[in-house]
Amino acid sequence: MNRISWNQYFMAQSQLLALRSTCTRLAVGATIVRDKRIIAGGYNGSIAGGTHCIDDGCYVIDNHCVRTIHAEMNAVLQCAKFGVPTEGAEIYVTHFPCLQCCKSLIQAGIKAVYYAENYKNHPYAIELFDQAGVKVEQVLTEEMMDLKGQEKQKLVSDLLTALSEAGSSIDQVNELQKRAERLFLLKTDGD
Ligand SMILES: [Zn+2]
Ligand SMILES: [Zn+2]
Repeated sequence: MNRISWNQYFMAQSQLLALRSTCTRLAVGATIVRDKRIIAGGYNGSIAGGTHCIDDGCYVIDNHCVRTIHAEMNAVLQCAKFGVPTEGAEIYVTHFPCLQCCKSLIQAGIKAVYYAENYKNHPYAIELFDQAGVKVEQVLTEEMMDLKGQEKQKLVSDLLTALSEAGSSIDQVNELQKRAERLFLLKTDGD
């Protein structure tokens, strides 16, 4: 049985949060974690009680939707609201943070940024993270989001066994085996 890594687990939380996003331009989710515990979460959306982009369309100025608060900021502000320290915490974001969020995360004392998708990765944001000693790492979750993954893996394995028993060439079965391993490979980061 393949166990998902902590990184994949927390990123999956952010991917779920992104589904709560109210801005049609980009669905982003963010989860702040300290000592392997979730301390806050946020998604790309309007202020509480405000008009939603999904209802009224985006409020676009200079090609940016100005109505929404970015997921990372919402997560940090949730900590501010409830007095939870962000110093030394880590954040899992579905998309590489924008420049504004980058600066806020550094200033909030976030020490690691894990992101799933590259998104207009700003060179200055990369530089600032680097200067501040913030660890930045991409986390992929595609494999683990396949909830039937293990069943599929078992099916492919059974098919390969059947093939070799039916007299297929060793080379052919080995080649298919390698493809299956690449397809089902789970990246783990230890505990
Ligand atoms: Zn919007
Ligand atoms: Zn942002």
